[in-house]
Amino acid sequence: MDHFRYLDHRLHCEQVPLDQIAEHVGTPFYCYSRATLERHFDVFRDAFSSIEHLICYSVKANSTLAVLDTLAKRGAGFDIVSGGELARVKRVGCPGQRVVFSGVGKTEAEIRAALEHRVLMFNVESQPELLRINALAGQMGLRAPIALRINPDVDPATHPYISTGLKRNKFGIPHQQAEELYRLAATLEHVQPIGLDCHIGSQLTTLEPFVDALKRVKALLLRLRQQGIAIRYLDLGGGLGIPYDTQQTPPHPERYAEALLREIAGLDVVLILEPGRVIVGNAGILVARVEYVKSGEEKRFIITDAGMNDLLRPALYDAHHTILPVTRRFDREEIMADVVGPICESGDFLARDRMLPEFHAGELLAVRSAGAYGFSMSSNYNSRPRAAEVMVHQDRFAVVRPRETIEQLMEHEVPFV
Ligand SMILES: *Cc1c(COP(=O)(O)O)cnc(C)c1O
Repeated sequence: MDHFRYLDHRLHCEQVPLDQIAEHVGTPFYCYSRATLERHFDVFRDAFSSIEHLICYSVKANSTLAVLDTLAKRGAGFDIVSGGELARVKRVGCPGQRVVFSGVGKTEAEIRAALEHRVLMFNVESQPELLRINALAGQMGLRAPIALRINPDVDPATHPYISTGLKRNKFGIPHQQAEELYRLAATLEHVQPIGLDCHIGSQLTTLEPFVDALKRVKALLLRLRQQGIAIRYLDLGGGLGIPYDTQQTPPHPERYAEALLREIAGLDVVLILEPGRVIVGNAGILVARVEYVKSGEEKRFIITDAGMNDLLRPALYDAHHTILPVTRRFDREEIMADVVGPICESGDFLARDRMLPEFHAGELLAVRSAGAYGFSMSSNYNSRPRAAEVMVHQDRFAVVRPRETIEQLMEHEVPFV
C-alpha cells in the first residue's frame, strides 16, 4: 500500500499534488512519501515482532539522508556496503551497534572506519578479507565481530544481474568451504565469529528460494555450534520483491516472516534482515516532463526530460515501471509507445512497447516504483545534473536534495598543465 493516488484527476503524493511540486522545483524530480516509507518499515518490522531481531535497511537501495533519517527515527539499523554509506548512517546518528557491513571488496580504509564506529558485525565474503580484518583489528587493539556470508547455491529465479546466491556469482563463501573458514576464524586473535549471513538476490517473488537458503545456513549453524562456535546472529539479507505492476503479487512481508520464523523456531538466534527495495521501492516516484512526441515508422516515442542517467533500471535490467499521467483525462486514446530519455544511447528508455494514454508535449508523467535503485544509481552521464529529490509529509513537501547545477558538475575539474 502506498500514498500515491489521484484526487480530482491530479496525481498526489499524500495530500500534495505532484503538478504543484513540479511548478516549484522543475523536472525531473524524485518524490518520496514519508508516510509510505514509515508504513513499509513498520509492516516489515512488526512481522518479526515475535522474536528478537534487527532490521538493517539496505542503504544502497536509496541512501538519501532524508530517507535514512526517517528510517533511523523509526529504529532501523542499516546494512552498508561502503565507507561512503557508513558516513551517511553516521550522519543520521545511527550507532554502530545497529550497523552491519557487507560487500566483497572492503578496503583497508573502509574496514578501519567501520571498526572505529564499532559496527555490529562485518559480513565477510572471503578468506583474504577475514585475514585483512584480523590484521587491522589487531593494529587497533580490537576484536572485530564477524559473520561469514555463505553462498548457499540456490536459484532465486530473478534477473541474472540481481541474483547473488548461485555458485557462479562473486558473492559469499561456498557453503562447502564455510565450516573450515569458521574454524580458521575461531583461531584468529582479533576476530570473533558471532554471526552467519546470506543474501541470495533481489526482487524475489516467491518464498521457496528464501526457505531453501535458510535450510542450508541453519544446518551449517547447528554444525558450528556443535564445534563450539557460538553463532548468535543469523542475517538473512534482503531481497523481498515488490509489485512493479498490478499483475505481480510478491509475498507480503507477513508471509515472508511466517516462512522464515517457522524455519528458525527454537534456534535461539537474533535475526537480522536487510530489506531495501521492499521498504523504499514503492515509496518513491520519478516525475518527468514530456519534451516531444515523435511518430516513428513503427511506433510513437514519448521523449521526456528524464533519462537512463536518472533511472537506470529499465536500461540495466529491462525493468518494468508503471507510467502514469500526472493529470488524468478520460478522453485520451491508448497508443503503443516507447517512453525514452534524451541520452545518446538506444538503451535509454523508461518503458518500451507500452500501451499508454496519448501524451502531449509539456505534460507531466510519473514513473512509479522508483524509490529503490532510482536516485542511488543515477549518474551525470551526458553531463546531466542529477534530479532534485523531494519528500512529502501529509500536506507539506520539502526539497531534500536540490537539483545539481551544471556549475557543480565542473566544480573540481581543472585543465592539465
Ligand atoms: C542489495 C542488498 C540488500 C538489499 O536487497 P533488496 O533486494 O533491495 O532488499 C541486502 N543485503 C545485501 C548484502 C545486498 O547486497
